[in-house]
Amino acid sequence: MSNKIIEKTPAGAVVELDVLIIGAGVSGLYQLHLMREKGLTARICEAGSGIGGTWFWNRYPGARLDSESPSYQYLFSDELYRNWSWSERFATQTEVEAWLNYVADSLVLRQDIDLDTAVTSAVWDESILRWTVQTSRGTTLRTRFVIACCGMLSAPLTDQFPGQQLFKGQIFHTARWPATGADLAGKRVGVIGTGATGIQVVQALAPVAGELTVFVRTPHYALPMQNVRYSAVDIEAYKSNFRALQDRLPISFGGFDFAPEYAWRDLSPERRLEILEACYADGSLKFWLASFAELFVDEEVNAEISAFIRAKMRARLNDDRLSEILVPADYGFGTRRVPLENGFLEAFLQPNVHAVPVKSNPIAAVTPTGLQLADGTVHELDAIIMATGFDAGTGAFARIDFRGRDGLSLRDHWQKGVSTAFGLQMNGFPNLFMTGAPLAPSAALCNMPICLQFQNEWIADCIEHVLENGGHVIEPTAQIEREWVEHHDLVADSVLMSKTDSWYVGSNVAGKPRRLLAYAGGAGAYRTRCLEIAESGYSGFDIH
Ligand code: NAP
Repeated sequence: MSNKIIEKTPAGAVVELDVLIIGAGVSGLYQLHLMREKGLTARICEAGSGIGGTWFWNRYPGARLDSESPSYQYLFSDELYRNWSWSERFATQTEVEAWLNYVADSLVLRQDIDLDTAVTSAVWDESILRWTVQTSRGTTLRTRFVIACCGMLSAPLTDQFPGQQLFKGQIFHTARWPATGADLAGKRVGVIGTGATGIQVVQALAPVAGELTVFVRTPHYALPMQNVRYSAVDIEAYKSNFRALQDRLPISFGGFDFAPEYAWRDLSPERRLEILEACYADGSLKFWLASFAELFVDEEVNAEISAFIRAKMRARLNDDRLSEILVPADYGFGTRRVPLENGFLEAFLQPNVHAVPVKSNPIAAVTPTGLQLADGTVHELDAIIMATGFDAGTGAFARIDFRGRDGLSLRDHWQKGVSTAFGLQMNGFPNLFMTGAPLAPSAALCNMPICLQFQNEWIADCIEHVLENGGHVIEPTAQIEREWVEHHDLVADSVLMSKTDSWYVGSNVAGKPRRLLAYAGGAGAYRTRCLEIAESGYSGFDIH
């Protein structure tokens, strides 16, 4: 990691730019590189005090990838790929953050990144065809284009319970974990939430905390991760696969290096079981994404695969009370994000780890000394960890006061219904591009670097096209946006995840309009459609 101090844009300064990029995570870093390659003046504003986006903020104990590390990389440069070596099949947060710092240094990006600089508002000025952007440090940026690479899981749900401010112990949201760490050894720790984050926290803290009390509202299906440390031979082997990854991943369903090979209904029950067992033993997301595609659309197949996982979970727990709390009963496998875990269930077999069901007896308040449930029970705690998730997809964009043409507020616009053209632009917001935004695979259903790289490249080519053709402004027509939303909804209606409550459909945030956030037609199909638009000279987009 570079120690070089880069001068920030001074407070009060007004900076003129071609392109302002919001966020220095996986997407923003590559977007900056591309903009420079196109000869444009570009700068990143990043709210964090370091780069890495998700991988900067989510430094809670146990945080790690559940995409396989070799495929969690950009695929645009053989050299960038090969000069970085992962030490494990599923890398830790620390290693992923280090990789992104390696990327920033290799591409010499730091001098164009303002850290500790949150964008607070961005207002389109039709008279000069520029965005005026204000930041938390009092800088003003005037820019032709804004590319919001804010991340789809960057707006944490922090203030969730009455009394939080009065708690006398330590209270953390996992996505705002202190950089200095937290000493939880021997303490009475409460964890709220058992999504992908809560699961990682629990398995990491079970050996550390004095007493670990886990408040479980909706249990997740647990799929064991098979992690391995890479030897020098393993590293060479995965690196030699680079060209193949480059060919396969962008056109795959979800940016992963596996695809379903069999159709459930063509096989005997014995053969289905063999395949399920083999995918389960692989210890990756293959079981979810590449065992049988029917599990996403066919309730009967889904029910059988769900029963397979439930039986595995019950066998691991071998305890009726714990199974009642920790094994999902009322939704199908894979209709919420499937987390990989490593000893999560076994943690509850330790005497210091306690599962408290809070569906029918919800958490009512934080008291000065613990958590109180609706029935009045109080759990005394020294520390509370909120693994309560995010206002996903829309949250990080809507927390910025974007004002498009005629003062149109993005926040208000999305409150009526989440809508975008291909997750890339919106009618009414000229020259505003987004990555990881709703209604694209990158909003949830993709191995992120693969889908983000594609969006970054599409945006860079699009801006180049506009400028080379003497244009100043690009904006999708209301019609193409409507058509995309209709197509998105049609695909969404065919998949079971639309019917299950989770952040995938926005139901974890009170009052958020329900719509499947990610395009479920596959990264490959999405890519084809976006490339057709580019090849047609951006038909459906108004350029002037
Ligand atoms: P999440 O999946 O939304 O889980 C939030 C958890 O908090 C849920 O169990 C939820 O219960 C619970 N919760 C929220 N409010 C509550 C309340 N008032 N009372 C009790 N429980 C409450 O969020 P997450 O675990 O942070 O994960 C979000 C996404 O981040 C993941 O799905 C994944 O895409 C990504 N992630 C990835 C990795 C990785 O790649 N390794 C790791 C972590 C996260 P309900 O389900 O009942 O609402």
